[in-house]
This record gives sequence, C-alpha cells and structure tokens, in this order.
Amino acid sequence: MLSVDARLIRCGVDQVAVTFPQAGGCLCGATRYEIREDPLIAYACHCTDCQTASGSGFALCLTTPVATIDVGRGAVERRTISFEDGRVWNFLVCGECETRLWSERRTTPEIVSVRAGTLDDPSWVHPVAHIWVASALPWSPIPADALRYPGQPGDPMEMIRAWRERAAR
Ligand SMILES: [Zn+2]
Ligand SMILES: [Zn+2]
Repeated sequence: MLSVDARLIRCGVDQVAVTFPQAGGCLCGATRYEIREDPLIAYACHCTDCQTASGSGFALCLTTPVATIDVGRGAVERRTISFEDGRVWNFLVCGECETRLWSERRTTPEIVSVRAGTLDDPSWVHPVAHIWVASALPWSPIPADALRYPGQPGDPMEMIRAWRERAAR
C-alpha cells in the first residue's frame, strides 16, 4: 500500500512532517534507494557490535519490511559476518563503496534494519526505543520518554506501538 500523505512525527518538542517515499543512498552515489512506507520502528542500538560496525556510540536504525524498499540504481550486495559464538549477521551494502545500507534480521530476513544515516534526510528519525543500553556509552543521550531495554527487546510490538503513537494528532 502506497502512503503519500505527510505524516507528522513528534521530535522532542518539535513536529516534523515526513512524506513517503524517503530517499537514501550510499557514500559514492552508485546506489540509491527509496523507502515507500512509514517504517515499523525507529530505534537506537547501543550493542558493542553496532559500536564496532559503525565506529560510533550506537546505530540509528529503521525497522521495515524489505518489500517496502525500492533500489533505484546500483547493485546492492549481501555481506555475511560469522561470529565466533555461531551468530551470523547478514547486511546489504553498495557493491561499489561498501556503505552498509541495511541488515537482515536473523530469524525474519524479510524484515530489515535500515541504517538511518544513509537517508538523504534522517532528521525525522527520532528513536522511540534504545536497546542494549547496558553497553551504552556513559554520555549517550537517552531521553527519559524513550523506551529502554538493557538487551534485546522480547516483544517488538511495544516499540511498534510507541512509534505509531508518536504520530502527532
Ligand atoms: Zn556506493
Ligand atoms: Zn546493535
């Protein structure tokens, strides 16, 4: 279902209007994509893997069905990391410059986590939840009104509901 209406999202004290599709792409410009619909969740992950992979304090992500992403140009390629403990992490990159665009959930690969910083305008991506806060950097800004989980959330519906409720009325 195509959503073209502007959606107001509360960002702290402000409201921002967001329309879909939202465009994004890689660093070199070879790969461009669009997200057609409002994602399920926007969250920040403070796990040590995301810290290592991003080179930053946390990863800012959008959870969305991969079917809502259109790759306009470029060759998106899958990369796989196998961890020593047996976990496997599949992520999709620009085949030219290796910018990481989204990763597949292990149990449900049809749902992906888009790296929000690859959007042309990520300003509206205000995370409703912070996960793996047990390994968050001590100075990490985690607003009091955000959901917080010490590790992986058990029930994603709580975050999905929070994201929907963030739509301004
Ligand atoms: Zn690229
Ligand atoms: Zn993480």
